Amino acid sequence: MSQEKPTKEIQCESCGNTFLGEAVVSMLGSPPREWWPWECPTCEEKHKLEVERGHQEYLVQARPEERKLMAAAEWGCPMV
Ligand SMILES: [Zn+2]
Repeated sequence: MSQEKPTKEIQCESCGNTFLGEAVVSMLGSPPREWWPWECPTCEEKHKLEVERGHQEYLVQARPEERKLMAAAEWGCPMV
């Protein structure tokens, strides 16, 4: 009754560890397509965090840049 999900041992492209990956099967179209993960869940999680952190870093970086511009405007204020 229950559909068996195809699983196989996959070598993680990031850390090289082998892990049991579960394919995502699309039943749309024929033949059905299978997508296999290329990273172990640990690396996947790590990348997700990196993306989030990268976004935050971008936001943090934008602020000093603004500050620099403000400082430049102050310093560049003509004294004549
Ligand atoms: Zn990995």
